[in-house]
Amino acid sequence: MPANPETNPSSALPAKQSDFSFRVGKRLSETCSPSPEQVAENGGAFLGRTGTISTPHGEIQTPAFIAVGTKATVKAVLPEAVADLGAQAVLANAYHLYLQPGADILDEAGGLGAFMNWQGPTFTDSGGFQVMSLGSGFKKVIDMKSVDHSGPDDAVAPGKERLAHVDEEGVWFKSHLNGDKHRFSPEISMNVQHQIGADIMFAFDELTTLQNSRGYQEESLERTRRWAERCITEHFRLTGERTGKPYQALFGVIQGAQYEDLRRKACRDLGAMNFDGFGIGGALEKENLGTIVRWCNEELPEDKPRHLLGISEPDDIFTAIENGADTFDCVSPTRVARNSAFYHPDGRFNLSGAKYKRDFGPLQEGCDCYACQNYSRAYIHHLFKSKEMLSATLISIHNERFVVKMVDDARLAIEDGSFFEFKAETLRRYYS
Ligand SMILES: [Zn+2]
Repeated sequence: MPANPETNPSSALPAKQSDFSFRVGKRLSETCSPSPEQVAENGGAFLGRTGTISTPHGEIQTPAFIAVGTKATVKAVLPEAVADLGAQAVLANAYHLYLQPGADILDEAGGLGAFMNWQGPTFTDSGGFQVMSLGSGFKKVIDMKSVDHSGPDDAVAPGKERLAHVDEEGVWFKSHLNGDKHRFSPEISMNVQHQIGADIMFAFDELTTLQNSRGYQEESLERTRRWAERCITEHFRLTGERTGKPYQALFGVIQGAQYEDLRRKACRDLGAMNFDGFGIGGALEKENLGTIVRWCNEELPEDKPRHLLGISEPDDIFTAIENGADTFDCVSPTRVARNSAFYHPDGRFNLSGAKYKRDFGPLQEGCDCYACQNYSRAYIHHLFKSKEMLSATLISIHNERFVVKMVDDARLAIEDGSFFEFKAETLRRYYS
């Protein structure tokens, strides 16, 4: 039972920042002694490390893959199964929960974990990405073809309406659910995320796109810096005011697109602020991922955790880990599962093919997940063909387990000095 603040005076105390911590474990550059060729190929020193994030709801051993539960549910998977498959934490989205059911409902329920029956650590992302991408729908609304940087900023595609408007105070946006107009600002995002009650929250930032001009990126980065300061002020005001709640850590979000000087400046500016950790966000092209993560982690304080927002492809995960990202999240494992795609050491396959009709083996031989231990490809193929919801559940369990275990194994490989061999063998098989 949660303690009643009226009868338990100690639970009415303000939350303490010291209830959140990060401890660096082993360093990849020391356990694996990379060759000069490997360092040169990486573009610089390897910054990978293991570590432990301690939150009021338990520890996260890093590197760790964080399961995405956007609307306070990992789609189609019971929270008990999410724990059983080894996921250490769940990341929900402030924008979605603010619109539905409303952050006050989660507050009344005792916070995100209690509301969704998840006992472990939780994250919320600030809503900035969704406000500016779903709200403005930039993939659909902003003309993605104008990537030659010659056109105007945010060229809106013909016949589309821009649904998010950024100003110094915050953002006006229209709900993707019903078109209602809403306001998000650093202060509103902090209030919403405090009500949602996740262990780790992200500062409200402006998402730019790769086709914004250099001038706009500079202007936006300064605005994100000012918003970061406002987030910290509001965060500590709420931490003092909302007594009897566990401490919620606040991560600053690093923007700066593909520009080295802007990324490094953002890291120095936000690194000097009283954040508990950092998120590396914004527009990233696959080929620049490792370079950008390394620029950021060369500047960010070593003793604070770094989260990379939104990656799950095996090659991207290894790139992120070796360049010093501690946690990452992605919707892919459950999203592709709903289209019957499953991860396998030999690549990603689609179970809808007729060849699986009489395949009575598991999704992956030797996998320890609940789906592989108990169900055949033939059965799950049948479920998918019959449009039975259980197919999404079983494939999601397997896919989440696949990515969680790959990252867990990468952590063990950093510890025992076999990271580069493990990476080479995993990627050779997966992409052959
Ligand atoms: Zn499995």
